[in-house]
Amino acid sequence: MGSEKNASIKRIQATGQMKKIMADYFYQLDEAARSGSSKIAWCTSVGPAELLLSLGFQVYYPENHGAMLGATRQANDYIPVANAIGYSPDICSYLTSDIGAYIKQETPLTRAYPGIEGLPRPDVLVFNTNQCRDVQDWLGWYARELQVPIMGVSTFRNIGDVTDLAVTNIAGQIRELIPELEQISGNRFDLDRFREVMALSGRCTELWKQVLETNLAKPAPMSFFDATIQMGPAVVLRGSETAIAYYETLLAELKTRVSEGIGAVDNERFRLYWEGMPVWGKLRDLSELFIGLDTAVIASTYCNSWIFDAFDPEDPFNSMARAYTEIFIVRDEAFKQRYIEDIVSRFGLHGLIFHDSKTCPNNSNNRYCLPERLEESLQIPTLTINGDLNDMRCYSDEQAKTNIEAFIEQLESR
Ligand code: SF4
Repeated sequence: MGSEKNASIKRIQATGQMKKIMADYFYQLDEAARSGSSKIAWCTSVGPAELLLSLGFQVYYPENHGAMLGATRQANDYIPVANAIGYSPDICSYLTSDIGAYIKQETPLTRAYPGIEGLPRPDVLVFNTNQCRDVQDWLGWYARELQVPIMGVSTFRNIGDVTDLAVTNIAGQIRELIPELEQISGNRFDLDRFREVMALSGRCTELWKQVLETNLAKPAPMSFFDATIQMGPAVVLRGSETAIAYYETLLAELKTRVSEGIGAVDNERFRLYWEGMPVWGKLRDLSELFIGLDTAVIASTYCNSWIFDAFDPEDPFNSMARAYTEIFIVRDEAFKQRYIEDIVSRFGLHGLIFHDSKTCPNNSNNRYCLPERLEESLQIPTLTINGDLNDMRCYSDEQAKTNIEAFIEQLESR
């Protein structure tokens, strides 16, 4: 099979700049937590971060830490620790690995960033259940453990159209957070500052979308596996000029690749969609496997989840409510089907890979017949890989490799 070929991953030059801004971000958080110069909010990744930033909080994202635990393959050292205090091995392995690491007082941040001794202690914990209930339970543990206030937004699930009624409700919940957040931060809410942060986040998300859409080109300049790393600033630094500057640099590099006909995969034969969570501990292995098969995995639900088209600084509360309520994970099956059909046709994809992530049913969309419906409507094949985002006991290298190679053979035979 093609996987025996040289399968080296092409380095994205901008990555050096990304490492630097991510390091600065963590050092600034650490400094703020130690000195008390700013209050620290922990926030779920699609939570009301812009509101927190406008109130002067430095914002830390536990899911980003969960992904680091997965990518550094440390998660399995910690999951049993959380299991031992009552968190099931079947629930989110970000939650279990992160809580387990906290109990053991360990974090990959200490190795990655010398001088940092631990997580920045929160002054407040803020969630949005748009992704799942696990995020609320996750922050709830820290609220009890650290005796820190917790608050958040409880959203709608399984929705088709995002109605004005839903938007008004969520916007109202976001507004209701303000008095307590003012008290904790010591700062008064400033609508103009909120608008500024929304404008910065809007620009960041717009650039991130353009970055992902460079993959409309054939060959595609960036793989899904690259994009899961490149999305770091969109997650933790949106609302800042830093993230905007980074994505301008990255976009320019990818546009150069496109104009020079350079693909992430040489001899790109097949173009695929990745549905579901990344397998964080296997990004490199999977990336190399697909490169060896002359196959580019170039579009995904996961990386698109940080595109917030609705952001509008002129109407910050409603537009944030709409943006954070219209994400894929919140939507009903009919919407999800239409969404993927549109991407498959725009990106010229030949097949779909579904990752059935054992501990994240919320982001495993193979379980209610969506692959079968898409096979029928698009007349392209799908493959489901069993695995997990962080818990590598649920993933088999051999099984995944065999299934992926057979899937590519199936594409060849068409
Ligand atoms: S969406 Fe999945 S991975 Fe993300 S926090 Fe919820 S259960 Fe965990």
